[in-house]
Amino acid sequence: MITDEKFVNTIKLIALKNAIEFDNKIKLDVVISKAFSFSRFLDSGSGNIKNYIPEIKTIVSELETLSFDDKKNLYSKLLSKENDYLRENDRDSPKREQSHKGKYIDKDKKKSTLREPLIKEHLLDFQLPDLDDAVMGNVITRFPPEPNGYPHIGHAKAAVIDEEYAKKYNGKLILRYDDTNPLKEKIEYYDAIKAGLDWLGVKPQLIKNTSDDIEKLYEYARKLIQSNFAYVCSCAPEVIKKNRIKSITCDCVSNSIKDNLKFFNEMVKGNNRSGSSNDVKFNGAARSAILRYRGNMSSLNTAMRDPTLFRIIRDGDHPKVGSKYSLWPTYDFAAPIEDSLDGVTHAMRTKEYELRNELYYSILDNLGLPKPRLIEFSRLEFEGIPVSKRKITPLIEQGIIQRWDDPRLPTLMGLRRRGILPEAIRKFVMSLSITLSETKPSIEILESFNRKLLDPISPRLFFVKNPVRLCIESLDVKAVEIKNHPTVDMGRRKVPIENIIYISNDDAIRIKTGDTLRLMDLCNIEILSIEIAEGERIGGNSTDCIIHASNKGDEMNHKIPKIQWVSESDKVEYNVLKPLPLYNGDIYNENNLVTDKGYAESFVSTLPLGSQFQFVRYGFCKVDDKSTAIFTHK
Ligand code: ATP
Ligand code: MG
Repeated sequence: MITDEKFVNTIKLIALKNAIEFDNKIKLDVVISKAFSFSRFLDSGSGNIKNYIPEIKTIVSELETLSFDDKKNLYSKLLSKENDYLRENDRDSPKREQSHKGKYIDKDKKKSTLREPLIKEHLLDFQLPDLDDAVMGNVITRFPPEPNGYPHIGHAKAAVIDEEYAKKYNGKLILRYDDTNPLKEKIEYYDAIKAGLDWLGVKPQLIKNTSDDIEKLYEYARKLIQSNFAYVCSCAPEVIKKNRIKSITCDCVSNSIKDNLKFFNEMVKGNNRSGSSNDVKFNGAARSAILRYRGNMSSLNTAMRDPTLFRIIRDGDHPKVGSKYSLWPTYDFAAPIEDSLDGVTHAMRTKEYELRNELYYSILDNLGLPKPRLIEFSRLEFEGIPVSKRKITPLIEQGIIQRWDDPRLPTLMGLRRRGILPEAIRKFVMSLSITLSETKPSIEILESFNRKLLDPISPRLFFVKNPVRLCIESLDVKAVEIKNHPTVDMGRRKVPIENIIYISNDDAIRIKTGDTLRLMDLCNIEILSIEIAEGERIGGNSTDCIIHASNKGDEMNHKIPKIQWVSESDKVEYNVLKPLPLYNGDIYNENNLVTDKGYAESFVSTLPLGSQFQFVRYGFCKVDDKSTAIFTHK
């Protein structure tokens, strides 16, 4: 009797997936064989799957009676339950304890780490929870970046969720550049955002700029003024700030509607650059006036304390509209109106905007415009890596980091250069889904999705870091042919051999006279002598042999250590750049880019720029220039 509910659900998921993929037919033998691989990881202990076959048969025959659509529905339902379970487990990440070797190990590793990857592997399709009030074919979402910096993985989270929801409901995705601050925006950034989305495979059905709609936004401002929901305020910024904190209303609130309209029109007109004055003149005062929303100065929600709707920005030309306008809407005003005019049904944004929801709805209510549903999700952050333009841009501006595609940065360009695949980012985002949970996901989750995608497409090559020279007696091999991948056919490479090879210093320091080792794809060796004391075996440039060994044939022996090597007659000098976290807590990590130097097989230097490969026992890398690769991850 199968008592484990999760296991029953897993059987059902396997069977339903099989039916969905194969013409509504469930192949019992496929279900049984897949179930077999899960049975070892049953929470309730292993048990022999053969005992369960009759029950698997019953489950399958019950499912067979369902229509195709019912099967699909049940599949989605069970899958989202399964995803919830996985997310739950990710959140309560396994308790860790320090092992005696100082390495962290998972206390309940068996339970959480064996079952999860298996399920993740078999049931890759993470699904987003249903949206309220979503009608098939009518859902419109939007991704609204400000073109004031390069897109990063946080933007990828927002854009992928926006797109996946549009897809889920056969709807539409809009890319809207929220470009209402000419001081910060540049064409370079619009282009970088588009390039980043193209790379991710995010395909909006419509691309627009908020700056296209300035005149419309002025019109809506006039409407608000006419219904007395907005007023022109000419108080000094410090006064406005102080009053907001103290909930004090200023005299400007009592301007008449007529005056407000007049002042606003002056702001629109007077800020036309052809005007001579630098400030707006009215009420006898010459100040930079703002248009404010008539909210509630004593509201507990500070976002409602008569927020700014328009402000004058005179310096600098706007990248799209040049010097045509100087009166610019704030995000608070532009976002709800743009969303509403664009017909957005579900507007998703990060949680820090939550306090502004009241204002968003209030503006639309007072304008009588349709209201999208606002949905919040958590901001993506990683430990030690700032996922925010506000934090990344200064690093570039201050020259601490030279390029936007620096592999230490979480910019899409940086991740791309490091070797992270767009598909891995999409899977990672979908695995986080649209939760509000504040926990910082580990970057290792992204890496594990990436690894799974890279493994079958990356040739496996040898690199020895800090090489140590090793001479092998009686090695009468002139060359070996090595498979470029053990299981996928990627061809073979021929490596010329002499009796001199190099091994990595990391391996050399562990070797003792008398040890037997296997040099992968070459032969077994026995260590005859070592010329330098332990801990001092860095000998890359030495022409002397530091370790002497004898050839011990080719017989496979699983008990001896296997190490990679590079042949003297095939070596090229090679560097690997290893990006590390930018910060330790709040402190900038001065050692956030490490270079590993060593020898690689010459085959590596034949790979075109941008190729991805794996250095065996070292990690995945991406070719950055002829003699340098960037370390992607282990
Ligand atoms: P930054 O801190 O990078 O300046 P921002 O919110 O000002 O962020 P926008 O260009 O306005 O950047 O963001 C566009 C969209 O991307 C918004 O919906 C925003 O909520 C979302 N977004 C930005 N950063 C993140 C992040 N780290 N995680 C998830 N979503 C993000
Ligand atoms: Mg912003």
